[in-house]
Amino acid sequence: TSHFRQQRLHASTASSTTDFSTATPAGKRILVTGGAGFLGSHLVERLLGAGHSVLCLDNFSTGTHRNLDGLRGRTDLTIVDHDVALPFDVGAFDEIYNLACPASPPHYQADPIQTTKTCVLGALNVLEVARRSNARVLQASTSEVYGDPNVHPQRETYWGNVNPIGPRACYDEGKRCAETLFFDYSRAHGVSVRVARIFNTYGPRMRPDDGRVVSNFIVQALRGDDITVYGSGGQTRSFCYVSDLVDGLVRLMESPDSVTSPVNLGNPGEFTVGELATMVVEMVGSRSSIVYHPLPVDDPRQRKPDISQAKRYLDWTPKVSLKEGLAKTIDYFDSVLSAPALHPTK
Ligand code: NAD
Ligand code: UDP
Repeated sequence: TSHFRQQRLHASTASSTTDFSTATPAGKRILVTGGAGFLGSHLVERLLGAGHSVLCLDNFSTGTHRNLDGLRGRTDLTIVDHDVALPFDVGAFDEIYNLACPASPPHYQADPIQTTKTCVLGALNVLEVARRSNARVLQASTSEVYGDPNVHPQRETYWGNVNPIGPRACYDEGKRCAETLFFDYSRAHGVSVRVARIFNTYGPRMRPDDGRVVSNFIVQALRGDDITVYGSGGQTRSFCYVSDLVDGLVRLMESPDSVTSPVNLGNPGEFTVGELATMVVEMVGSRSSIVYHPLPVDDPRQRKPDISQAKRYLDWTPKVSLKEGLAKTIDYFDSVLSAPALHPTK
């Protein structure tokens, strides 16, 4: 732990201390990069609940301290403010989940060069820590590796259709290169790797200004603002509730080394963006109107995971329907918007 403590001195924020040498015998030492974000904070909560010690490394670019407020004061959680794209040495771990990266198109496109660095150099730095600690390491990859897919639904064997020079490329190609690094570290150094290809996931703790479709539509409906459908609204997505996704990530991490391919994690229910808009307006009971804005460049026309690998190898299938998940997410945003002072974004 001395190495780890030393590192904390260089980190600009560290809200609590964990002495990993005294972690409970059953508990593992787990690094979660991006642990202050939407998915990361739910994952951190799940891992602590299972008796593990967690170090969350995050630069708070899209994540917030508030996401971890419920865990304040826990001695088994350490928070380090650091950019995953810059090398770090924060100790040894049994497992590493690499989630650090903005996931919303407006956020990852705001500083595209930093996004590519986060994906590629972040993966490299995380893999080096895994190699040194002999840790098992999981990459949060994405359905975006399939780009605007010509194969539907998408199976893990499909190589994708990505524009390498468009405005989404910093994320799509960054994540593809991260996958490459993961499999090369496995082949070259024997690192035990897992790659989750995550499809659109939503739920509480998304930021009201996140910019992704579910949070945008719910916030607009609750405020009575226009619902902004991009394009005709005929494009499709498959929406997975956060608790299901976190369950899939943990199962993938715990799966045997014989699972060597990336694994799709998502809800195979497929909805058009127009259908989602109507559902949200109805569920909120909103007076909002639906308005149409131009479709962003390279916006994928369709997306739906084939999850037969996850079913077969992880015994995983999503449990929460879109309607149930939307109801929980609407409740969450309702409380955030009605008491904004209690819920600052930082
Ligand atoms: P998010 O933006 O809420 O969380 C990302 C977290 O990473 C934030 O806490 C942010 O501050 C942190 N971060 C960003 N750049 C960093 C850097 N350079 N160094 C350290 N920390 C950094 O997004 P999310 O939805 O929680 O996504 C988490 C991960 O899952 C991302 O890697 C994303 O690509 C992946 N993913 C998410 C979805 C989804 O639908 N939510 C889909 C596919 C993939
Ligand atoms: N979208 C929309 N209105 C919004 C935000 C997004 O119609 O306010 C559309 C977007 O063009 C895309 C889909 O919803 O077709 C999903 O977008 P999101 O940014 O959530 O994720 P993506 O799957 O594109 O990364």
